[in-house]
Amino acid sequence: MTPMTRTDEKTGGAADGFAENKAKNTVVIKLSRDDPDPEKLKYCAEVIKKGGLVCFPTETVYGLGANAFDSEAVKNIFIAKGRPADNPLIVHIAGYDMLNIICRGGEEQRKRIALLGNAYWPGPLTMIADRDPAVPDEVSCGLPTVGIRMPDNKIALELIRLSGVPIAAPSANLSGKPSPSKAEHVIKDLFGRVDVIIDGGDCRVGVESTVLDITGDVPAILRPGAVTLEDVIKVLGKGELPDWKKAPKKGETPRSPGMKYTHYSPDAEVRIYDGSDIGGIRAFIEKEAEKEAGNGKKVGIFTTKEGAGAYDEKRFTVVYAGTRDDLLTVTHLLYGALRDFDKKGVDVVLAEAFPQTGVGNALMNRLYRAAGGCVIDIGGN
Ligand code: AMP
Ligand code: MG
Repeated sequence: MTPMTRTDEKTGGAADGFAENKAKNTVVIKLSRDDPDPEKLKYCAEVIKKGGLVCFPTETVYGLGANAFDSEAVKNIFIAKGRPADNPLIVHIAGYDMLNIICRGGEEQRKRIALLGNAYWPGPLTMIADRDPAVPDEVSCGLPTVGIRMPDNKIALELIRLSGVPIAAPSANLSGKPSPSKAEHVIKDLFGRVDVIIDGGDCRVGVESTVLDITGDVPAILRPGAVTLEDVIKVLGKGELPDWKKAPKKGETPRSPGMKYTHYSPDAEVRIYDGSDIGGIRAFIEKEAEKEAGNGKKVGIFTTKEGAGAYDEKRFTVVYAGTRDDLLTVTHLLYGALRDFDKKGVDVVLAEAFPQTGVGNALMNRLYRAAGGCVIDIGGN
């Protein structure tokens, strides 16, 4: 595989800290999700052990991983992604033995980890707990806490186990781009910037993990995901989901630094249409689409199969992402749809809003960020 030098328009190539002359000879390795070749995995683990960067699949999204105890390797994650230096990384573990070397939490935190871990690990739940000083500052960006997760993917778990160390990994996309739910997304963003990209097929969940802060009296969801508030309350008896639409006040430090960035945005402008009557929303979007098309814009529409017949498919790029009866599937398809809109050269994406219940919180949170907070409430009858 030949090294590739590429300048990304959004990050500005070398301007984001990744020097073109440092372009890496990225190796893409295809592995079966259920039965990964142990020899190839061993090779990937060696790359981690030597301080390299390996992109790997998880059940949420692809991760860009390095040895969590190697400060230099962790710094390289930030450079490869163009990630802001104050946005901490999640540490991925393969078993509870690794927990003890990264977490310093007391009895209550350990109890919560045991209970939630028993219910949802391996799975799409990150717990924020007190950090052991052995975890380098670079991982947590100086915070006294650390995000910990056990991913539900055989390739990821085997890679961590064979590396013998916890793996720090943010999502494997260029900073500001939608997270990658397919290997092709990782290749598009990070080829030439990392040592290895493992192609392990599509990610089952397709959006990032739930981030739950377990250090306070009431466990708080800092980023909604497939493990919902109801799931947390079922196990711990309490929990809260603070309003993620509220921007932190000036000078206030957000509890989850990552949430202050306009993440997950495609190149196209995204607008969300909300209201109490879905039929009215669709009629409104169709009119807006006509207006935009009249101004020479290429229009994309994000709907579900229930929206069939509501939009002019000949004039607009309409994506039917599953069904409103199953918001997990809609969530799963979101990032791929956003990237596809870009691939098709869509200028503006008009999206239907979804109910903010259960996993609908994760869906609306990511859609809201993709739209830079642009929600048009058309009211209702
Ligand atoms: P990503 O790896 O791109 O999915 O982003 C990780 C998310 O977890 C970001 O929103 C971070 O701000 C959040 N996160 C990681 N570690 C911590 C921590 N110690 N405290 C609060 N949030 C964290
Ligand atoms: Mg990310």
